[in-house]
Amino acid sequence: MTTDAAAFDLDRYVARIRSFDGARFAVATEVTIPYRGRAHPVLSVRSRAVASKTLLVLAGVHGDESAGILAVPPILEAWSSEVVRLVVITPVNPVGAAQHSRANAAGKDINRDFIRFATVEARVVRDVFERERPDFVVSLHEGPQEGTFMFANRFVDHALARGLCEALAAGGTVLAKRDYFGRRLDPPGLAPASVTTRAIWKLLAALRTKATLAYSADRSVPEIVLEGASRMADEAARLRPHVDLVAAVAERVAGWSR
Ligand SMILES: [Zn+2]
Repeated sequence: MTTDAAAFDLDRYVARIRSFDGARFAVATEVTIPYRGRAHPVLSVRSRAVASKTLLVLAGVHGDESAGILAVPPILEAWSSEVVRLVVITPVNPVGAAQHSRANAAGKDINRDFIRFATVEARVVRDVFERERPDFVVSLHEGPQEGTFMFANRFVDHALARGLCEALAAGGTVLAKRDYFGRRLDPPGLAPASVTTRAIWKLLAALRTKATLAYSADRSVPEIVLEGASRMADEAARLRPHVDLVAAVAERVAGWSR
């Protein structure tokens, strides 16, 4: 749960995202999910620049982690890359966003559904992923830990991940010394792929559940899952790591195309 959860208005948010449709971005409705007599659209935003590299951003896989959802307008406002194409799916879980719940209308955690694809939301992410062929994925989440950290799959270069943590710190984000399992993070802010995380993914796969981080890894695509600190009262500070991370990743992915 987040401090501004009660203030989130899906209709107003959707209108705000649609207002970016124009010369710089194309905004489309990927699917509309009906719930309690109301339409809940999942939108995609694509930058129109012709570019060789694509960055896919997933906002709001968990509906009650609102900072990543609310960070999309400032991410789009700040976007200036001509060499990286930005694709954003937001909110991935619009019913969850409107209801301030982690799960979707059926009570399913979308971020466990990347084997079965029983949820329409996971199918949208899969379809956009297959259509857009991203070179890098960033998924925006929040957690109850002190400070911000990121999970990286094994296709994220370690030096690159360290650089991203440094970029967040330089922007004023406080990095977590421990993740929400209580594991110490070294360097602060980074939970890299490890023997332990790979064992966890294997176990989850055996249980027929899979998160986006492992889905990307199956396709050899680097993915970072950002876990902002949901307990921060200051909204600007809560949104900052999401906005800064997308810009920092874009800068590095731009370097790959030179
Ligand atoms: Zn989450």
